Parts: sequence; structure tokens; C-alpha cells
Amino acid sequence: MTRKIAFYGKGGIGKSTTQQNTACALSHFHNKKVFIHGCDPKADCTRLALGGKPQDTIMDMLREQGEDAITVEKVVKTGFEGIRCVESGGPEPGVGCAGRGVITAISLMEDLGAYTEDLDFVHFDVLGDVVCGGFAMPIRDGKAQEVYIVASGEMMAIYAANNISRGLLKYANQSGVRLGGIICNSRKVDNEHELMDEFVTALGTQMIHFVPRDNIVQKAEFNKKSVVEYDDNCNQAHEYETLAKKIIENEMFVVPSPLDMDCLEKMVSKYGLMD
Ligand code: ADP
Ligand code: MG
Repeated sequence: MTRKIAFYGKGGIGKSTTQQNTACALSHFHNKKVFIHGCDPKADCTRLALGGKPQDTIMDMLREQGEDAITVEKVVKTGFEGIRCVESGGPEPGVGCAGRGVITAISLMEDLGAYTEDLDFVHFDVLGDVVCGGFAMPIRDGKAQEVYIVASGEMMAIYAANNISRGLLKYANQSGVRLGGIICNSRKVDNEHELMDEFVTALGTQMIHFVPRDNIVQKAEFNKKSVVEYDDNCNQAHEYETLAKKIIENEMFVVPSPLDMDCLEKMVSKYGLMD
């Protein structure tokens, strides 16, 4: 059975970095077959897995060549450890709804049979908040059964995680989607671990892993690689190995209970993040 999982979280929080390093760790350390479907119009969800190779996105190809010309071979690239990668792309800047592109791209990949049965994991790497219909699609229409939210102890990251949980609560009944946990991608703010512990408990979920902040992430990125590929014996690579293992073994899937604003603000201010 292929597990289809979506990564959500505030823009810039480290979703694509964490998602790709998890994919690389799943393949490299745990021998799993992974497919990454990037759902950010920036088309930067698969770059590290592909060694920086530029990607023709599904939306680009649709515009230039039309739907009939698209084949899995043309649009799916193979990267580190055989990870298969595709990017939805987006509309021309300033024209049309970017969320639409996500719906089009996922449906097309399904129609073409790109998510083959030999896969252990399909990752959807989805931009920002669940605000517009298109970006909610992976969780609304049952495209992904599991969600991991990437967050940190920063106020806005916590707010975004709470908003995404609202979206999950809204769609859980109709689509069956469940929250598998929060990945804390550390920003080294004060009391981050404690705040996150309290937040995940209130949501009714778990902090599946605390990923430290480490400059080797940038170093690897300059070399157009995931940390796992760049140096599979460094501490950070082992953190991603552990996160991957916890995801493989995860059994805690919940419908989250998001907090009301008042409650959330009290919680965050208690840890000294608000004045
Ligand atoms: P998102 O996909 O959420 O928009 P990215 O994955 O592109 O965010 O990450 C934004 C930046 O944060 C990247 O340039 C990356 O190098 C950096 N980053 C992410 N996680 C870490 C980490 N654990 N340690 C250090 N830098 C990180
Ligand atoms: Mg991203």
C-alpha cells in the first residue's frame, strides 16, 4: 500500500527542505520508494532531490504542448536513490488561480497512472496556509490520507499550524484525512520545545520529531543536495533518518482540535513570544 502524505506549513518554515530530506532518508536509510509531487507554484519542492536540475512543470508543459502531449516519461524526473519527482508549477504570473494548477496536476498524474503501486510513499509538498480551494485539494478530496505540519516556536508558524488544523477538521469527515503530527523545525526561539509540547497536546496530536537548526542544511543546499546526500553520516542526516523512521512506524492519526484565538494567544504569550 502506498501511503500518500501531505506536508503543510507556513511559507519559508522549511517544508520543502524537511520534506525532501525525509524523502531522501526514507530511500537511503530505509529502502523505501518515494515519489515527490511538488504543489508550490515556485516549483522548488524537488530541487534538492534532483541535484538542482531545472524542471519542466506540468502547467508549463500543458500550456506549451497541450494535454495530449504529456506523458509520465516526459514530466517525471528521477533523482537521488531513484526518487521520482514532479512539479505542478503555476499559472503565468498575475493570471489565473495558482490553486487550480494543483488540482489539474494531481488529476493528470492520477489519470496517467504516475503514482504506481510499487511506491511506498507519495509526498505532496503544499504551499502555505489552507486558504484557497486548490491548495486544500490534497486533503479535501482524499488525495492524501496523512498530513504532517511543519512548524516552529515562532508565533506565525504556530498560527499557521492552527489554521491548517482548522482545515483538516473541516475536511476530515468527507475525505478521511488525518493529522500524523507536527514536525518542529527549530528556529532556536526560547522555550521552543516546551511551547510545541503544549501546543501539540492541545491539538490532540504529537510532535513527531524536533529537527534542529543546522548550517549544514545551507551548505548542502549550495551544493544542490539534500543533507542526506551531501553527508549521510553527519548529525543532521541522522535527524532526518530518525524522522523518517518515526513516520514509517507512526500509528497516531487524529482529527485535530484547533484552538480558538484567545487560547492560542495566551499559550504563545506565556512562553514570552508576545509582548
Ligand atoms: P518552505 O518550503 O516552507 O517555503 P524551505 O524548505 O524552502 O521552506 O526553507 C526555507 C529556508 O530555510 C531554506 O533556505 C533552508 O535552507 C532553510 N532551512 C530549513 N530547515 C532548516 C534547518 N533545519 N536548519 C537550517 N536551515 C534550514
Ligand atoms: Mg517549499
